[in-house]
Amino acid sequence: MSSYLIVGAGVFGVSTAYHLIRKYPNANVTLVDRDAYDATSRVAASWDWNKVVRADYDDFVYCKLALEAQDIFVNDPLWAPYFKQTGVYWICRSDYAQNVVNHHRRLGRTDDIITLPISEARKLYGGIFEDADYSGAKEVLVNKGSGYALAGDALRAVTKEILHLGVKYVTAEVASLEIDAQNTCRGIRTVSGDVLRADHVLLCTGAYTPKLLELSAAQSGRSNLRSEDRILAAGITTGLAQLDEEEYKKYADMPVGFQGYLAEHGKPFIGSLPPTKDRELKWWGSKIFSNVREILPGRFVSAPPAGPDYQQWNVSRRMKQDIIEQKDLWFGSKSKHWNMTTHRICWDAFTSTSDFIISPHPAAKGLYLATCGSFHGFKFFPVIGKYVIDMLEGSLSPELEARWRWDRERPDALTAGNPEYPNAEMNDLLDTVAKL
Ligand SMILES: Cc1cc2nc3c(=O)[nH]c(=O)nc-3n(C[C@H](O)[C@H](O)[C@H](O)COP(=O)(O)OP(=O)(O)OC[C@H]3O[C@@H](n4cnc5c(N)ncnc54)[C@H](O)[C@@H]3O)c2cc1C
Repeated sequence: MSSYLIVGAGVFGVSTAYHLIRKYPNANVTLVDRDAYDATSRVAASWDWNKVVRADYDDFVYCKLALEAQDIFVNDPLWAPYFKQTGVYWICRSDYAQNVVNHHRRLGRTDDIITLPISEARKLYGGIFEDADYSGAKEVLVNKGSGYALAGDALRAVTKEILHLGVKYVTAEVASLEIDAQNTCRGIRTVSGDVLRADHVLLCTGAYTPKLLELSAAQSGRSNLRSEDRILAAGITTGLAQLDEEEYKKYADMPVGFQGYLAEHGKPFIGSLPPTKDRELKWWGSKIFSNVREILPGRFVSAPPAGPDYQQWNVSRRMKQDIIEQKDLWFGSKSKHWNMTTHRICWDAFTSTSDFIISPHPAAKGLYLATCGSFHGFKFFPVIGKYVIDMLEGSLSPELEARWRWDRERPDALTAGNPEYPNAEMNDLLDTVAKL
């Protein structure tokens, strides 16, 4: 009977465990994560109030994959309670909208997806986006099929389901990989010294992946384990504002908003999420920041700050200011009095083209990776594990294998025209402390 050790219980790890246990009900599948799946605070990027679930991609491959995932969010009783089909309102500064519409047509989809001139679009939804920033915008894409998921709730529910199906869950921090003299990865060693073994070791460790590979390289003396410039760990600030009862009524049925920017604007697309059950609107910041530190003598790697919670609740004034600025891109002066309640730094793993890495690791037999959500991985939760199994079994389509493999062409983000790549360093966003 095959055994699988999956490190990381975010969407990549849980989706893989879900598809594995359904395909092979007798398989020995163990998930290991530093946080309990039902902890009140987790470091996973996948653990969040909400995440956008959209199939509005101008990249055909991800458009198709996102539609496959979205159909499950809509129709499958395990996922449907966590999906809110609010639609998206996308202010486009490029040919993005036309590309999305063409992809949907090519895929034979009859989704409710349209492009509108700005003057017409800003009257929609009771005019809530009237004061948004339309500078340089060409048109607005409205797709009523997209929406958002209650991310943390969905992650908890699906994890609970797979535990019921026989997956084991171990709460422990993994310190390094166990690699034998024949270059085969046999398992992992936890920080407390326990060794867990399996035939397949899959790293779904998100932002922590480069650091874990670096530590394992040092521990095993195999420098080719390192991710080098393939993966960059980076954080993004998110912030919430709570509306009062009266104001909430105006935004209760709002769609997800997107400000689409280009690589030359030096910032990613900026989203505005509909209110949570506590009447809180959410935005993310324009700064995607790496945190490069010397983690071993002479080895500089970007990683989330040390500590059990990645210090994710320690948000500087500059980071909070970034959120205010992005909020204003949507709601301008009418939002000046809104009370900002909660801030968090969310850490993810990035590649320069935003393509995932779903691949065997060439440095050790039995070692695999499924990671690099690159700021867009959540929406694939219902399906991504199916493709990870294809990778494990060598049956991934040549197109996907080429997109997701460990060694592939890696243009820099600007050349790749990718605005969703880290654009800052965390140190530069921390509060300066007065020297007295
Ligand atoms: C601010 C922000 C907003 C986003 N918005 C969206 C969105 O709207 N829509 C969308 O589709 N995507 C979005 N994303 C991207 C998406 O959240 C991520 O791509 C996706 O959740 C990554 O999932 P993962 O499983 O790779 O990693 P994670 O969810 O980060 O999971 C990794 C897990 O590995 C565990 N782990 C790591 N190292 C160890 C170790 N050494 N030992 C034990 N456990 C370990 C961690 O505890 C964690 O639980 C957003 C990301 C950010 C940062």
